This record gives sequence, C-alpha cells and structure tokens, in this order.
Amino acid sequence: MAVIAAGTSTPTPADFDTLLRQDPEIAEIVLGELARQSDSLQLIAAENFASPAVLAALGSPLANKYAEGYPGARHHGGCDLVDAAERLAVRRATALFGAEHANVQPHSGSAAVLATYAALLRPGDTVLAMGLPYGGHLTHGSPANFSGRWFDFVGYGTDAETGLIDYDQVRALARERRPKAIVCGSISYPRHPDYALFREIADEVDAYLIADAAHPMGLIAGGAAPSPLPYADVVCATTHKVLRGPRGGMILCGAELAERVDRAVFPFTQGGAQMHTIAAKAVAFGEAATPAFTTYAHQVVHNARVLAAGLEGEGFRVLTGGTDTHLISADPSPLGLDGKTARDRLAQAGLVLDTCALPYGEARGLRLGTAAVTTQGMGETEMARIAGVFALVIHDDGELSRRVRTEVRELAGRFPPYRG
Ligand SMILES: *Cc1c(COP(=O)(O)O)cnc(C)c1O
Repeated sequence: MAVIAAGTSTPTPADFDTLLRQDPEIAEIVLGELARQSDSLQLIAAENFASPAVLAALGSPLANKYAEGYPGARHHGGCDLVDAAERLAVRRATALFGAEHANVQPHSGSAAVLATYAALLRPGDTVLAMGLPYGGHLTHGSPANFSGRWFDFVGYGTDAETGLIDYDQVRALARERRPKAIVCGSISYPRHPDYALFREIADEVDAYLIADAAHPMGLIAGGAAPSPLPYADVVCATTHKVLRGPRGGMILCGAELAERVDRAVFPFTQGGAQMHTIAAKAVAFGEAATPAFTTYAHQVVHNARVLAAGLEGEGFRVLTGGTDTHLISADPSPLGLDGKTARDRLAQAGLVLDTCALPYGEARGLRLGTAAVTTQGMGETEMARIAGVFALVIHDDGELSRRVRTEVRELAGRFPPYRG
C-alpha cells in the first residue's frame, strides 16, 4: 500500500481520496495536520517522522486481525501471517539490541513500564526512581498514575550545581529504603545514565534494575548512546521517539525473565496485540539496523550539541551545560521570560516544543529535541539558525513575529518530512 502521492512536497496517503470523499471533515484535519507538521519545526523531544514504509504497515489490513497470545500460541484462528510478522519483529529487536528476549506487544511506553512492574513487583513494593521535578516520567511514581497509587516510590534527584544525577544520594536512598527495584530513565535528562553504577547500587541492596530507555532507544540502536542491556534486568522503551517507528512500546530482558515479562504483557495488562503496529515496529527495527540510521543517530546528537551551544550563546541556561543525547533542557529565565510564555511565543513563530519541570524552584523550563528535524535532513547550519530564531522570538515585543514565522516556514519548506 503506497502512502506517498508523487509530485507533491506535502504528500497524502494513496487512499486519501477515499477518505476525502467519504469523510471530508476528518480528511481536512489529516491534511491540516500534515501541513502543520511540514511548515513548522517539530522540536518536541519525543517526536519524529516515521518513514512511509512504517506508515504503510500501520495503515495495512493487519489492523483488522485479532491475535491474543504469542506466535504459535494464539487464542484466535488465522494468525499464521501475523505470527510471521511478530516473529520478525522479535528477531530484529533482539539482534538490533543484543537482547536474549524481546516483547514487542506493549501498546505504548507506559504500557511497557506497567507490564515490567507487574512482572517484577507486588503492589506496595518500594521503588527508587528519578523524582518527577528532576525529569522522572509519570510512570515513575506520579500520584496521578498507577505507579504512584500502587507502589511506594522514592525519588532521587540531580545535583543543584551540575544538574547531573546525584549518585551518592541514589546509593544513600537505596541503602535506607531497600527498594525492590531501581528505575533509571527520564523524560528530560540530557546525559547518559551511568548504567554500571546503577547496577552496582542495585546489587548492593538486592534490587532489580529497570532501565526506562523510552527516549534514547533510537540512539542506542544507532550506536550513539551506551546500551543499558548489559546492566539492567529489564529495559523498557518506546518505538516512536528517536527510534522513529510506530507509536508503541517494547520490553527487552534476559531469558530467565522472558516468561514473566510475556505473561505480564498478555494476559495480565493487555488483550489482543496490535498486529499492524507490530509489523510497523519490525519495519522500523529493519531501518534502525542500517548504516544510514547509525549516521542519523550520531547526527541527532551532533545537532543537539550545536543547538544547545547556540541557545547557551543566546543567554539561555542550558541544564547540565549541554547534552549527550537528542534532548535539551533549557531555562529561559535569564532572558526575563518564564518557560510557558517562551513556549507559547515560540509556538506562534512555528517552533513547537514543550515546557518541563526544573529541578529548582517553581518556574518551568523548555524541553526540546533534534530527532525530527534531523530526520528532515537538517544539520549544523540549520541548528545555528534555529538558535538565532529562538533569540529573536524571546526578545520579540510582537513586531518581529510575522517575519520570524516566515523565516521558519521557509526553513521547514526546504526540508519536507515527506517528499513527493
Ligand atoms: C515517553 C516515555 C514513556 C511513555 O511512553 P508513552 O508511549 O507516552 O506511554 C515512559 N517513560 C519515559 C522515560 C518516557 O520518556
């Protein structure tokens, strides 16, 4: 099923005519979203542009198939072909990451974390994870989430001076609270966790080590970030962030935990697997195994470093003083603006990104990433230009905004995410 119509820089799905005729209301929205993604800059750290091949698998008739269970052991008939798709996805994931076992069924990153806790923990167990103000995810103990409701979370933080994880505190909290599991991974921490040190601390208190690598998994695939696989008992991830696959999750672990993890996904926390998404995950794993993806992953980090340095040069306070990944956390307050106002102004100029908690005070910072713009083919020159645009917008009193929006549209237009 072809996805890209020829001859346009803002392509439409091949079956789009059908949708347009049958449901113009939704078709308008889809077209509008494609235009929005194409003429503004997607700097949300968790977003990327899945390839036309990934989108083709997602929009395929595999979406119709019910397949509870695992390949060769399904609760439904007619699963031979989707079994083949899931086996391919598993084989490609284990080869790509050097894992003994992969479960590719979690519907999302959060579902992967939920299943991992279900495999290793009992309600009420103590878990040590990065505190939410420091960049912990909702699933790392937010009171609004199952994690905070069902487990006793203890949060570690970052050093006030350096912004780096305070490993002395992690060790002290581990000794004091004796957690059943320690989680490393974050939504905004721009540096690599020291997986070996986390392992050492976990061993000292006899805890499981869970790496929630939702963000860096694509960098790990491309050899641009260290792998938690040799250290963590279980690695959870998303497939849609830097990894550039379909929206979804996965879990990697050793052979001895495989059965517990599988049963924690199905039937404990999920029903039927989404076979179109699993096929699309297989496509993404195939792409991630290519030399082109290795180049991409390294370029993502290089771009983030250039952009972080540019923002610092413009007067932003860049947390930890830079980045090792695709992620940048920056505080605009030295420029006299709070995070939310900055984000809204940037959005008006066509720069789409998030705010994030800051490890000090109540003010919010900015969180951005370079995965999507790098997929579009942007490099160092464009990153420097984007940093310049940030500065223009931050200092804007309203006068400049139209000019800046035009400049961003022009920049985005030269790097269409989908080519005709
Ligand atoms: C994105 C993310 C998740 C959740 O992924 P969803 O697919 O949004 O559920 C979990 N943990 C971390 C660290 C993440 O960055």
